[in-house]
Amino acid sequence: MERTDGCRLRLAMQRQGRLTEATTHLLHGMGLEFESYRQRLLTPCRNFPLDILYGRDDDIPEYVADGTVDLGVVGRNVIVERGNGVEELLSLGFGYCSLVVAVPSESPIQDPRELEGHRVATSYPRTVRGYFEGIGVEDVELVTLSGSVEVAPSLGIASAVADLTATGSTLVLNDLRPIATVLESEAVLIANPASLRQPEKVRNINRVLMRINSLLAAREYKYVMMNAPRSALPTIRGATPGLKAPTVVPLADPEWVAIHTVVKENEFWEVIERLREAGASEILVTSIEKLLL
Ligand code: ATP
Ligand code: ZN
Repeated sequence: MERTDGCRLRLAMQRQGRLTEATTHLLHGMGLEFESYRQRLLTPCRNFPLDILYGRDDDIPEYVADGTVDLGVVGRNVIVERGNGVEELLSLGFGYCSLVVAVPSESPIQDPRELEGHRVATSYPRTVRGYFEGIGVEDVELVTLSGSVEVAPSLGIASAVADLTATGSTLVLNDLRPIATVLESEAVLIANPASLRQPEKVRNINRVLMRINSLLAAREYKYVMMNAPRSALPTIRGATPGLKAPTVVPLADPEWVAIHTVVKENEFWEVIERLREAGASEILVTSIEKLLL
């Protein structure tokens, strides 16, 4: 592919599959404007020097490694399996799943070490080989299937599978019982190492990173506004370990103040309970769209 503009970035994402919607949502959240119809090879962003290439998720590490594209969004599971020559930049907080070893429900096997001498079906042979070697199981025969791995035991192809699961429902549906986790995965942003050495590209890659980081940070916090008696301020300050000190705004009644602060999503309810105990009222909570730290 001819590269005419040295500064323009190319980003590969999954054309159609489990990562497509969340990746598109992320790119739109970064303010990128582009057409989402995927017939074209490269879709340009109208307002940012970036072109999007839609591909099979399995091909994305290769596109990134050989410099066809500068950036890619793909599951870490795919990177672990075939991600030589790419640099992982960021975890993106979606596409969570695990690669698990599972056996038929009625199987006597309880521990992955008992699979010595057995056949295991998977789409991730390198990762799974490494896993079994790591737990000292050398003699496992891997049957590599590109899809429908979960039916292998009922077809008599294998005694176990190593397959991706998010909720476990496909396993249950196929009467499989997980016995070990090989890998926890989520979508990641990867980069071509050579692109990371080209200053004019790095400038734009940093713009991409800054925008994604602001979206990720925003998700971790809630914006909280409340009214409280001035006397409650020290307690409230102690209860809201926000980014910096909360903003305190005087109200018409000199005894009362309005307080604006941010609260971490994962400690949200505990903080709100402490605020109420401290005397805060009319507590208003909103999500934050973007947060630049
Ligand atoms: P492609 O046509 O692009 O090759 P695919 O069928 O190989 O698609 P998908 O099933 O769409 O891939 O999964 C894409 C990625 O989504 C996986 O590699 C994984 O990182 C992630 N993922 C999240 N949840 C699950 C799940 N329950 N099962 C499989 N993958 C999942
Ligand atoms: Zn695939």
